[in-house]
Amino acid sequence: AMEAPPLRRHRARYKGPAAPPWKETFRRRCMERLRSSRAKLLGRYRQAGESVCGPARGALLVQEVMEQEWQALQAARESLPSLRGKEALAQILEDPDELAVLEEIQQELVLQEQLVIEEYERSLQFDEECLNAMLDGLDASDKVICPVCRKHYLTVRNHLVFCQCGLYISTQGMTEEKLRSLLANTITEHSHRCLHNPEFTVTSGMEEETCLLMSCPVSRGVRLHWDPLL
Ligand SMILES: [Zn+2]
Ligand SMILES: [Zn+2]
Repeated sequence: AMEAPPLRRHRARYKGPAAPPWKETFRRRCMERLRSSRAKLLGRYRQAGESVCGPARGALLVQEVMEQEWQALQAARESLPSLRGKEALAQILEDPDELAVLEEIQQELVLQEQLVIEEYERSLQFDEECLNAMLDGLDASDKVICPVCRKHYLTVRNHLVFCQCGLYISTQGMTEEKLRSLLANTITEHSHRCLHNPEFTVTSGMEEETCLLMSCPVSRGVRLHWDPLL
């Protein structure tokens, strides 16, 4: 008994605290129980979210999981101290090394809990993004994506077609419907004679009016008959 403190210091200095014999089993069972309680955890998280402002993070289920697993472990190993009533697990362990292990397991479980919650939030966000994309698509059903930047919708006016990317072309009597079929026909016609993906650019000649040019690595550029009246 006299030698115990120096030995412990020796261990602490060179190897860190020795793991108590229950550590790995307890840790593994807690992790398993927490993972299998995903639905329960998310239920509590949603409840906490409704009653508490801001993210109610951390230890929603960890204490309960640890206590349940400790009781199960203690029932099999009577040498372990038992939990009584409302006692916290940390209160029944006296060895500081064991308390450190308990703390370590608890932190790992809290982290696992947060990962489950983050994954859940990401999936919610993903659902929302999918829905928004679908609604955008419906809203935009009569719009035309700019063939040059392929990012923004074209704004089509009677005498003008333009885009946020800088595309700006004068026209006459243009509508979104005419423009869409002009683009679709040009792309379809090209695809019948060429396997390459065409690109669209805007000509910027000084002598001629700006117009939209479709080209690909092997075909000659095709000027779109921009003015539907021609
Ligand atoms: Zn554009
Ligand atoms: Zn081509």
